[in-house]
Amino acid sequence: MPPPARPVPAGGSAAAAGAGRRGAPGALAALGAALLDLLLPPRCAACGDPPEPGTPFCPTCGEAVDRPDPGCPRCGRPGPESLCGPCHLAPPSFDALRAAAGFGGPMADAVHALKYAGRAAVAESLGRWMASRVEIPAGAAVVPVPLGRRRRIARGYDQASLLADALARAAGSPRLRAALRRVRETQPQVGRDRAARAANVRGAFAASPAVAGRDVVLVDDVVTTGATADACARALREAGARSVTVVALARAE
Ligand SMILES: [Zn+2]
Ligand SMILES: [Zn+2]
Repeated sequence: MPPPARPVPAGGSAAAAGAGRRGAPGALAALGAALLDLLLPPRCAACGDPPEPGTPFCPTCGEAVDRPDPGCPRCGRPGPESLCGPCHLAPPSFDALRAAAGFGGPMADAVHALKYAGRAAVAESLGRWMASRVEIPAGAAVVPVPLGRRRRIARGYDQASLLADALARAAGSPRLRAALRRVRETQPQVGRDRAARAANVRGAFAASPAVAGRDVVLVDDVVTTGATADACARALREAGARSVTVVALARAE
C-alpha cells in the first residue's frame, strides 16, 4: 500500500497513531515523502494549514495542544506535585522526565505526521518548539533515544534523532552523536503493560564513554510508561553520565 504523500486530513489519523500502525512504508517511498515534505511550504504539523510563523501549528491547533500538569517531580506522571508511587518504590534511572505536551488532539496528528506520514520536516519545527516549552539544562549534551535498525530502514529517517538535532540547535546545546545505541532489537511497546514494557527494553541499550561526567538530555517523541527512557538512562548512567533529563514531545499516559 503506498504511503500518503499529501497532508493527512485533520483528525483522521489520531486513532491510527494511538494504535500503532502496521505496514510501514517502504524505505524509498518514505524517503520520497520526506523529500517532498522538505520542498513544500511549511504546514501545520497536525492539520496541514499554514502554521503560525515560528511554530509547528496553525493558530487553531496551537490553541488546542495541552500542556501537561507538572505532576511527579521525577517522572512527570500526572497527579499531585509529589513523588508518585512507582518512583517511591523503584526510582527511575533518569533524574527527571518532562514532556512538551499531552498526546491528545492535534498532538496525536502531529506525532502521526512525524512518525508515519514521511513528514520529516515537521521534526525541525517540533524540535524547536520542544526547546521553547521544556526547560533544557544548560550545557547538557543532547542524545536521542535510538530507533531500531529495522524501523529506521522502514521509515527512511529517525524521528527522535531529527527532534534532537532541532532541539539542540534551538537550545544552543551540544548534540552528542553515536552516544547511545541499541544492542538488540526490541518488539514494539504498543499493547504491553508496564511490566512487559520494562522487560522488553531491559538491557537493550549501551552508551559510549563520551557521556562520562556529562549532563545528558535524552530526547524521545512519545513517552508512555517511561520504560524505554528508563532503560536508556540506565545505560547512560552506567557509562558515567552525571545526570539524565528526559525531554519528550508528548506524554501518552
Ligand atoms: Zn492546524
Ligand atoms: Zn514519578
